[in-house]
Amino acid sequence: MRNGHWEKNLFELIRRTSVDLPSDVEAGIKRALKKERKDSHAYWVLETILENAAISRRNDTPLCQDTGTLTFYFGVPVGFDTNAIVAHTRAAVAKATRQGYLRQNTIDSVSGASYDTNIGSASPVFVFQQQARKKVEVRLIMKGGGSENVGLQYSLPDFSINANRDLEGVRRCILDAVWRAQGNGCAPGVVGVCVGGDRATGYKQSKELFLRRLPDRSRVKALARLEERIMKDVEKLGIGPMGLGGRTTLLGVKIDALSRLPASFFVTVSYMCWAFRRRGVLLGSEGGVHRWLY
Ligand code: SF4
Repeated sequence: MRNGHWEKNLFELIRRTSVDLPSDVEAGIKRALKKERKDSHAYWVLETILENAAISRRNDTPLCQDTGTLTFYFGVPVGFDTNAIVAHTRAAVAKATRQGYLRQNTIDSVSGASYDTNIGSASPVFVFQQQARKKVEVRLIMKGGGSENVGLQYSLPDFSINANRDLEGVRRCILDAVWRAQGNGCAPGVVGVCVGGDRATGYKQSKELFLRRLPDRSRVKALARLEERIMKDVEKLGIGPMGLGGRTTLLGVKIDALSRLPASFFVTVSYMCWAFRRRGVLLGSEGGVHRWLY
């Protein structure tokens, strides 16, 4: 694979993701603002978030000082050279770090030394899937550490929260995770929930759900109903933006299910903060932009 436009357009994907809140997320925050009292902390926090998003877009600066873990999701044609696109992506990440679109945000877990270009072991993260088309689909999620820290995994039954191995048990896990997070993780956020799988696939799948747009619902009717129920339930918790009280604790909830072993029933909850950085692009065979996604 010749360099072509690859590195340039992957860099542009990182830049857009870092500085520009997706329109569905911004619309979700605007909807939430209308529900809060004008003299409340919640209103003030949401208004500040929207101002911050507008300033970042205008000034071409990162939405948050923590530019997070970068996960690239690639949909590639059969026979595609994945090694080459990994190299182009790493080069684009290094350039985005040098230009300030990404903070120097990656450290060695043993020595504590900084990786100056954010290129380290499992940094960035790559997920590949083969697709039956010629274009290359690239989606990027940047997930901050504060929101990553409040993710939780439950093994049902969990008697501490009266959660059995059913959808009511799943509901209790989700509400418990949101309650325990309080404002940490920079609420209002979005939760991705995987029912089933094993410990590793549960977290992987729960994060992949952040690729979905905010207003959509699960295609599984029972899960779609649960998503709607959770949104009503969390409103009553009163945690609010940044944990300062209010109706808006979550902007959305996405639930999916994987098959599981009879012995295990995991419920995995990943949390995404308000700085929900998600962008995508469809690239042609030479790396040229076919279409921007989101
Ligand atoms: S959790 Fe999100 S909004 Fe909060 S500091 Fe981290 S990246 Fe920023």
